[in-house]
Amino acid sequence: MTSQTSIRYLKGVGDKRASLYHKLGVETVGDLLHHFPRSYIDLSNPHTIRDAPYQEPCAVKALLTRIGKEQRIRKGLSLWKLRAEDETGTLLDITLFNVKYTVEQLVPDRYYIFYGRVTGTLLRREMSAPEIYPADGGQPILPVYPLTAGLTTRMLRSHMAQALKELKNLPDPLPEHLRRELDLPELNRALRDIHFPHNLAQATQARRRFIFQELLVLCCALGSLRSQKTQATVSPMHPVDLQPFYDSLPFSPTGAQKRCIAECAADLMGDVPMNRLIQGDVGSGKTLIAAACAYILAKNGKQTAMMVPTEILAEQHLVTMSQFLEPLGLKVELLTGSTKAAQRRKVLDALALGQIDLLIGTHALLSEGVEFFDLGLVITDEQHRFGVKQRATLSQKGKDCHVLVMSATPIPRTLSLIIYGDLALSILDEKPPGRQPVETVLIDSGKRARAMGFIRKHLDEGKQAYIVCPLIEQGEMNTELRSAVEYARNLSERELKGYRVGLLHGRMSPREKESVMRRFKSGELQVLVSTTVVEVGVDVPGATIIMIENAERFGLSQLHQLRGRVGRAQEKSWCILVSDVKSGKTAQRLQVMKREHDGFAIAEQDLALRGPGDFFGYRQHGLPALKVADLADDMELMEQARQAALRLLEKDPALEQPEHALLRAERDAMLSAVGDRPN
Ligand code: ADP
Ligand code: MG
Repeated sequence: MTSQTSIRYLKGVGDKRASLYHKLGVETVGDLLHHFPRSYIDLSNPHTIRDAPYQEPCAVKALLTRIGKEQRIRKGLSLWKLRAEDETGTLLDITLFNVKYTVEQLVPDRYYIFYGRVTGTLLRREMSAPEIYPADGGQPILPVYPLTAGLTTRMLRSHMAQALKELKNLPDPLPEHLRRELDLPELNRALRDIHFPHNLAQATQARRRFIFQELLVLCCALGSLRSQKTQATVSPMHPVDLQPFYDSLPFSPTGAQKRCIAECAADLMGDVPMNRLIQGDVGSGKTLIAAACAYILAKNGKQTAMMVPTEILAEQHLVTMSQFLEPLGLKVELLTGSTKAAQRRKVLDALALGQIDLLIGTHALLSEGVEFFDLGLVITDEQHRFGVKQRATLSQKGKDCHVLVMSATPIPRTLSLIIYGDLALSILDEKPPGRQPVETVLIDSGKRARAMGFIRKHLDEGKQAYIVCPLIEQGEMNTELRSAVEYARNLSERELKGYRVGLLHGRMSPREKESVMRRFKSGELQVLVSTTVVEVGVDVPGATIIMIENAERFGLSQLHQLRGRVGRAQEKSWCILVSDVKSGKTAQRLQVMKREHDGFAIAEQDLALRGPGDFFGYRQHGLPALKVADLADDMELMEQARQAALRLLEKDPALEQPEHALLRAERDAMLSAVGDRPN
């Protein structure tokens, strides 16, 4: 048996269970070994009956004193009542259901460990359907696995034990020197320890190893996608007087904008290509930084490419950038998937002749035949929304180029290093003057009717509104769609009768989405109802209200992004959060939205209140889904993995050395899993 052997050759598996394993992503015996426990049952320090905590899973060791007769409640439901005691004098009444075989194995007057939740009274505790283990069973820590219907924990444990016995000498993808350096257990030992540890510390050590390995593979994958920037040199730009640029703006730049522009300018005057991330909250004015850079490039006779995730964003940038730059004599053009052939030809010709200074577009910029005359700078906006592969192509195009990345998503340093590579950071921490914070109100659904009246009043004054649909029960594929359509129809037939209401939902094609957004942006639609997919970065200055139904289902950072769709001009704007949740952490979270308006502060609170779990949604960053590691959980391990990958790739950039063959295979598997999936 090898790790490639199909799972169905394990004893007790067969074709039927193999298809259940398939649902868990387990095809081979090797896969099975990498199906890790989600938790453990610790039988090593069982409680006495009296000391057992109430209502939480725990292990209780006690003497089984009585096993009642099987009681048939009805067809298909049998019940047994058991009694256990210990020296504390408290009784434990146990009820078991439909486990004839288990009951037959039990022997009265023996000690057992019962694992379950304790309820009942002070003198007579109860446990319903506990797991039961002989008190001298040997293995004190038992793994609990993610399951699927038809597979039980017991089966998994037995299959796992078998697999571990069959595959004893698996080669380790982690080079030995790394293991030694970081004190990580060897693969076979770690597999044993993560499935059947003798104590929890062992399990933790083993898990640490697998997390490290996964992060290392991730870093190698991303590293291999990036061009080796550091060695590249460019001829320094000559300094450019920015005064004419500033003078031609319709507003004066904020201090933070000026600082960021100066930081970029300094990079551009150097002989190492710029590699910089501009992080700024929604509405902080990142586009202006891009414009200033394009201006510097143009004055040096070089071209700039700016890539954004959607066509509508590209069009929006075209308008703004043209306003900023054309009065100064720069030529700005657009290239997207829907650029007509004749126009495309024209743009490409002009581009190759150097007649275009700034080309804005979607990933169409990456397609064949897009040749610049002298490309000097590549800018990406909201880069995390591009797939990993697209980023790689982009960085190939931008080889020996300056690179500027703009993002509204605050992320910790190490994570940004992993995602974007080693780039310098500029922070736009100041909003343009005159912006009023979006007034945020919290209402329950009883007040919806009044909120609707408020919205109508604003629409009558010529303003626009976003409404984010209510929570939709998970169900069949089309439920979401149907209820969104229904919700929008209800609105336009009742509360918003006579107003122009459009709907944006996740099952529309990108083209359809763009078209709806465009109609909203142009004012043709007054109200945009959406599931959650209001495009990030789209600027509709006329929109001054956003109402979010079932606000409790969103994380704070998401709410902040949604709220950022309004308040993008001088006008006072409103965010109405509708929720009937009145207590607990969720209510607390919504309260934060009322007082806090800074995206970074909100991200921190989000992290504190929700825990790191789903905060940095992987998809959000265009990263492959990780199995064991959690990008927010272990910064230290992540930093170690990043540095290890750097050193590894420096010595062996393509991972060609024999001792890296397994690591390379893992890397390739991760890359192919990502595919070309754009986000
Ligand atoms: P984001 O950082 O979200 O990409 P944008 O660059 O789209 O922000 O800017 C948001 C809005 O603020 C735009 O309408 C832009 O023209 C305007 N803006 C940018 N900088 C300033 C400024 N210094 N003063 C006034 N308005 C500004
Ligand atoms: Mg933007």
